[in-house]
Amino acid sequence: MKLSNLWHRIIILPDHTHAALGKLPLLATASYVLFGLLFYTWSARKEGESFSLKRALKSLFPADLYLHPSSKLDLLVFPLTVGLPIALTAVGFTSLLWTGETVRSWLQATMGASALAISSGWVATTLQFAVVFLAMDFANFMYHYLFHKVPFLWRIHRVHHSAEVLTPLTRWRFHPVEVVLELSFKGPFAGIITGAVLYLFGTKVSTSATVIVAAMSVAFEGTFFFRHSHIWVSYGRLASRLLCSPCMHQIHHSIDPKHWDKNFGLMLSIWDYLFGSRHIPEGREQLQFGINSEEIGERNPHSSFAGALLEPVATAIPRRNASLLRNPAADPFGP
Ligand SMILES: [Zn+2]
Ligand SMILES: [Zn+2]
Repeated sequence: MKLSNLWHRIIILPDHTHAALGKLPLLATASYVLFGLLFYTWSARKEGESFSLKRALKSLFPADLYLHPSSKLDLLVFPLTVGLPIALTAVGFTSLLWTGETVRSWLQATMGASALAISSGWVATTLQFAVVFLAMDFANFMYHYLFHKVPFLWRIHRVHHSAEVLTPLTRWRFHPVEVVLELSFKGPFAGIITGAVLYLFGTKVSTSATVIVAAMSVAFEGTFFFRHSHIWVSYGRLASRLLCSPCMHQIHHSIDPKHWDKNFGLMLSIWDYLFGSRHIPEGREQLQFGINSEEIGERNPHSSFAGALLEPVATAIPRRNASLLRNPAADPFGP
C-alpha cells in the first residue's frame, strides 16, 4: 500500500485539508519570505533607506546565522522531524475528534443528558469551535509546560533549547522521542477537555469546527518561522496580553535566568498569565540563545548529531530529580 493511501486511511480529515497539509512546508516558507520582505521594506522606509533586494535577502538570511554550527545540527535533525507539523496537525486533530466524541458519549451514557441542550444554531456552532480551539491551544501550552517542569522530559526538550542561533529550521529541532510523546499527548488531552465541556453544554464534538481549527493552525504555522528567527516581531504590549508574539518565543529561548520557563504558549498568552509564566517585553531585548551560560559553545552537549540524539536519552532515565531541571528552585512538583 502506498504511504499516501495509508495516511488517508488513518487520518479522517477531509481531502482539501490533506492537500493543504501537504503544501504546508512550502506555504510556511513562502509566508516567511513574503512577510520578511514586507518587514524589511517597512524597516528600510523607517530608516530612510531605499529598497534593495540583495540587502533584503541578506537581512532575511544572514550568512553568520546559517553557517553557525548550531544551524548545522538543525539541518541534520530536520529529516527526522520534517513531518512534525503535518503529523501534529493531522494526527492531533483526528485524535482530538475521536477522543472528544468518545468521552462525550460515555458521559452521556453514564450520567444522562445534560440539562443544557444547545444542539444546533449559531450558539452551538460557536461553542463547538471555541471549545476545540481553546482545548487544543491549552494542550499545546500544557505539553510544553510539562516538558520544562518534569526532569526527564526537560532532558529530552533540551535539544530544542541547545540551539545557539534561531533560524526557521530550529522549528524542527526536536528529539524524535519528544515528537512521539507530543503526538501521543496533545490530541487525546485536548479531546478529553473538549468532550467533557461540550457534554455539559449538551452539544456534540463537531468535525467541521475541528477542521476549521486545524486549518487555522496550518495558517498559523507561518508565524513559527518568526518565532525561530533573528527578526523581532512583536504584536505590541496590549495584543500580547492575548496572543503570543513571535518575539515572546525568542525570550523563551534566552539563556538569561530571568527568562527561563517563560512564555510556553503557542497562540494565546492567557495560559502563561494564569500559570504565572508570561513575560511580555517592554521593547526589543538583546538575547543570547541556548540552554544556559555553562552549556554553550564547545561545552554544548548537542554540538554533534550523535550527542543530540544520545545525551538526552542517557540523562533522561525517568527519575524525580529536580537538579536535572533548568531551574530546580522552581520545581512545581517538588516537596
Ligand atoms: Zn521550551
Ligand atoms: Zn522554540
